[in-house]
Amino acid sequence: MTDLLTIAERSDFRLTGRTDEVETLCAEFEKRWPDAVRSFEYGRSAEGRPMRAMLVSRCRSLNAAELKARSVPVLMLQAGIHPGESDGKDAGFMVLRDLLSDPASTLLNDIAVLFVPAFNTDGHERVGRWNRPNQVGPEETGWRATAQNLNLNRDYMKAEAPEMQAMLRLLNEWDPLVCADLHVTDGADFEPDISLQVEPVNQGDAQLCKIGVELRTALIDDLEAKGSIPLAFYPDLVETDNPASGFVLTVYSPRFSTGYFPQRNRWTGAGRDAFLEAVCDTSSGYAEYDHWFDQVDREQWSGLVGRGARCGCGGGCVEWRGDDFGLCVVVAGADGGCGGDGSR
Ligand SMILES: [Zn+2]
Repeated sequence: MTDLLTIAERSDFRLTGRTDEVETLCAEFEKRWPDAVRSFEYGRSAEGRPMRAMLVSRCRSLNAAELKARSVPVLMLQAGIHPGESDGKDAGFMVLRDLLSDPASTLLNDIAVLFVPAFNTDGHERVGRWNRPNQVGPEETGWRATAQNLNLNRDYMKAEAPEMQAMLRLLNEWDPLVCADLHVTDGADFEPDISLQVEPVNQGDAQLCKIGVELRTALIDDLEAKGSIPLAFYPDLVETDNPASGFVLTVYSPRFSTGYFPQRNRWTGAGRDAFLEAVCDTSSGYAEYDHWFDQVDREQWSGLVGRGARCGCGGGCVEWRGDDFGLCVVVAGADGGCGGDGSR
């Protein structure tokens, strides 16, 4: 499989690839595993670059409508909302390649993975040696904001950037049950090598929070078992420029991914590798991905989606009933809808 090694691997993690690598790897994955991989462009950036996604599954369907009809849960791996935080992109290609190459692996049998390697495509191409000067690597990184100087992780609600508009269309089409949003800390370093803030846990529907806590606990336990030191929230500083002020748990508003997905009644986890540890050691991100697959693949997640049904209001609403959890979730359709019982 040497021909599918990432530039990160081939350079011993001194380098990360650019957009041409994303395009090439996605095309080669699709060619190598045509029954399990579909690569497609889901939009164009402000500067006209292709925005690439890859759907990976061994459930014998690579089509959004079919997956929905069969109630196959979709796990989204969103990487590169902040270019320069390239662990999620590199680890995503690595772990998907390894899973697809392993005939004994069953992790992709009952779920579909929607992988977005480089969400902020233009920022990903704006490379420089000093874009993130306090980070160990790679030697050159992308730029945090878009070509319009917009931070996509502040744009989920106002959807000003064409990149975010494309992402919201992608979410409406594929409706991921869980989104893993992969970051690296932006200038702060901690003893824990990874933090994982899962929602709904601190906000959102009370019934969904119970499952969110369960998901978070399982992910943290799995990471600990593999030798990581995970933290169950993102340690923001009380005063952003004063480390002595202590840490605070931020409940993020919906302009952030962490706050947005709970508004859709979907789960999310923002993972951040500590920047001094992770960029040269993409294994933290790799391990985290592995556990996401594991958790979403559990029978109860499939069962939750399996109880989904159109609510019948004609507005595209979907109602999920999970009797095992005493749970009823109503998700309003993109074109508006009453939510079945008028609850939204
Ligand atoms: Zn980030």
